[in-house]
Amino acid sequence: MIQLLKKYSIDCDTNAHFCDKIQYNEATPKEIAQYKMHVFICKLCKTHSALNTELSKACSRARLTTMPKTAKDDLKAKLEKEMNN
Ligand SMILES: [Zn+2]
Repeated sequence: MIQLLKKYSIDCDTNAHFCDKIQYNEATPKEIAQYKMHVFICKLCKTHSALNTELSKACSRARLTTMPKTAKDDLKAKLEKEMNN
């Protein structure tokens, strides 16, 4: 049992990385299991995870969008034109 825990144990930096991957649905089942096990025993990462979840929810509610590539290219062309005058 202890060997299994050692095999699946990760440090806080790795856990933060897995937390981000989970938020973006990019984590493997093994990474999710390691993350859950680490959060269960690490109070610091548990707090980080809760804040990360809140941030993701806030971004989702804000319905953030990015500028379309065509609009970016138009803006870039206008700026370059202005800078050359
Ligand atoms: Zn931790």
